Formats: sequence, C-alpha cells, structure tokens
Amino acid sequence: MSEAPLPASRAASLPLIASELALDFTNSVADRGGPQHAEYLHSGSDIILWAHHAQLLSDDDRDGALALVGADEALGSLLLAEAHALRETIYEIGAALARRETPREEDRAALTAFHARCLGKARLSASNDSFAWTWEPRTALIEAVLGPIALSALSMLTQQDLARVKRCEGEHCGWLIFDTTKNRRRRWCEMEVCGNRAKIRAFRARKLEAT
Ligand SMILES: [Zn+2]
Repeated sequence: MSEAPLPASRAASLPLIASELALDFTNSVADRGGPQHAEYLHSGSDIILWAHHAQLLSDDDRDGALALVGADEALGSLLLAEAHALRETIYEIGAALARRETPREEDRAALTAFHARCLGKARLSASNDSFAWTWEPRTALIEAVLGPIALSALSMLTQQDLARVKRCEGEHCGWLIFDTTKNRRRRWCEMEVCGNRAKIRAFRARKLEAT
C-alpha cells in the first residue's frame, strides 16, 4: 500500500520476552522512574510500529494506520496519550502483583472502562474453531491498536496464576515478566542482558572481597 520507507524506531525491535502481551507493552520503558529511565514510545507512529512488531497489525494495517496518523496529527497525539495511559495502568497493576499486593481499585476500574470502550467498536469474528474480538483499524484506530492489549491484561487477571507475575531483578531494568517456567525460578527479563550483568557484578564483588 505505502511505498514510503518505514520510520526508524526502537519500538519495532523491542524484545517481546514477558510471555504476556500486556506485560510486553509495559516493557516499552526501561528503569521506570529511575536514573536510567528510557521511554521507547514517542509518537503515534511508534505505537503503531510496536503493535505491528507484536503481531497485532498486519503489514497492510500498519501501513494504513501510519498513513492515518501521518495525515491527522491530532489522531496520532491522541493515540500516543491513550497508549501511555493504558500502559501505565497495566504497569501499576502488574507491579502491584509482582509485589504480591492487590492492584489498586482505580487501576482496575480504568482498565475495565477502557476495555468496555474498545469492545464497543469490536466485532466477534470467526477464528479457527472459535471466535475472537477483532477491530477495523481504518475506522477505529485507537481501539484496534490498544483493544487487544487491554484484553490481554484482563485475560491475564481473570484466567492466569498471578503468582507468576514478576519484576526483573536486574539493576536499572524493572521490566515485568510472566514466569511460565515449570519451577517458577525465572528472575530476569533476558538472561543474556540482566542475568549476565548481575553475574558479572557478583563476580566482581567476590573478587574484591578476596583481595
Ligand atoms: Zn531485566
């Protein structure tokens, strides 16, 4: 559809390692509120590129959505604002679960309200042997991009073992993960990133002690 080159964005290559879509979406910020705080979603286009990266939009839908926000700056700004709001709501819920606390009522209510709004624009479409909520990005862009993420959060909250929600123990990380391992021993977002850094720190500390 579009021959224009895709905008370069970290959003299109962020690791998707949480094992739950909704938690992967919260992991588009690093070291949230900390000294190495980094935001990876800066525009409506970034949100669309992330959604395509997470397989929520086809190539055609991504190109169509990019054209929509390219032609309508207000729509892009609204998409970004709604995406950040949903993301921080899910993050607050996930971080509370990782601390083994009950998520705040106001966050649960915000997630429910956003989901209800998205469902108002959804269709129940045949998918293999069952049905799935689907959205038409050309007429309901914000709901098409964010609806599946809100649904993922609610499905996790209502159907999953929430003791498996954890926060990566890596320094300056804070990413949320859903531990699907049999022995529930997962500690890191990515072993090659936070796990190895922690090992190197522990090794150096032991070496210092020995000298
Ligand atoms: Zn980490």
